[in-house]
Amino acid sequence: MTDRKNETSVLIIYTGGTIGMVHDPETGSLIPIDFKHITDHVPVIGNYGFELHSVSFDPVKDSSNIDPDIWIRLAGIIEENYDRFDGFVVLHGTDTMAYSASALSFMLENLSKPVIFTGSQLPIGLPRTDGRENLITAIEIAAAKKNGNPIVPEVCIYFDSELSRGNRTTKFSAEHFDAFNSPNYPLLAEAGLHITYNTGIIRYPEKIRKLKVHRKFDNNVAILKLFPGLNRNFVKAVTGTAGLKGLIIETFGSGNAPTYKWFLDDLKAFIRKGGIIFNVTQCHGGSVEMGLYETSREMLAAGVISGRDITSEASVTKLMLLLGCHGSAEKVAEMLAKPIAGEMS
Ligand code: ASP
Repeated sequence: MTDRKNETSVLIIYTGGTIGMVHDPETGSLIPIDFKHITDHVPVIGNYGFELHSVSFDPVKDSSNIDPDIWIRLAGIIEENYDRFDGFVVLHGTDTMAYSASALSFMLENLSKPVIFTGSQLPIGLPRTDGRENLITAIEIAAAKKNGNPIVPEVCIYFDSELSRGNRTTKFSAEHFDAFNSPNYPLLAEAGLHITYNTGIIRYPEKIRKLKVHRKFDNNVAILKLFPGLNRNFVKAVTGTAGLKGLIIETFGSGNAPTYKWFLDDLKAFIRKGGIIFNVTQCHGGSVEMGLYETSREMLAAGVISGRDITSEASVTKLMLLLGCHGSAEKVAEMLAKPIAGEMS
């Protein structure tokens, strides 16, 4: 990487993912390799007028193996280097990128610098790779400033010409280069000949405050996706899970669920024991509106919390972090119900 001393500096943090993978000659499977390989394939990033530095996880991860400990390490690297760099690029596997970007958005309170996640669908060494463009533009966005201030001081995902808010993004294609979308929030920027920023919808801090990193997660949570024919024993097993504190129910449409008595009784019993239930729609776009139909009215009355238009990825990371950081169920419920990092409308 270049060591040129210039005004703008970006730290690239490589966690793993397809962008830096090669085929294992023995098994034929894709496995992550070291960071040097990536920069070898994009020598042009050395020509930037920025100061670029990189740090790599060791070992690097396929993102299916990412967990809260990795988010804590990642946030720690950003915190340690926060004053030295103007922006951060996180290279990450696409599979769980939306979870990690969501988690970081909640962990990094008072963020006032860009943290841009990117990766690729094809390894950077392949001729048709999407990794080169993703990496180059992510660096440019992490470095972008207007009047000396960062243009996008948020945790974002940049992928296939689109910049979206991390906690609004979801992976929707395992095939296309256009792998992510942001169903309920407009793009923060689009890259064509120029990078066009949608500054009217980017979150800017009211005041620059010291970065505060929240790093306690509690994974006593579960996601229950509803489907017609849901088995009673299964629901009982989930709500009866030892130690379970928070349950996300992925409901139909605008937050609807069956009105079977046993189902509602189970949810009510879980809430009575101090559990928190968060209602998140399994629809790709749109919002939960509890009370709109009879099939959500009783849940509302029982104290189920509306996830409004939050993504599943943001809901589970937010719930784990709030449960980890706050002792009281009331506080968790209060913070779940309102946006804390632009994750819901
Ligand atoms: N399995 C890979 C990962 O998420 C896929 C990718 O990077 O696109 O790490």
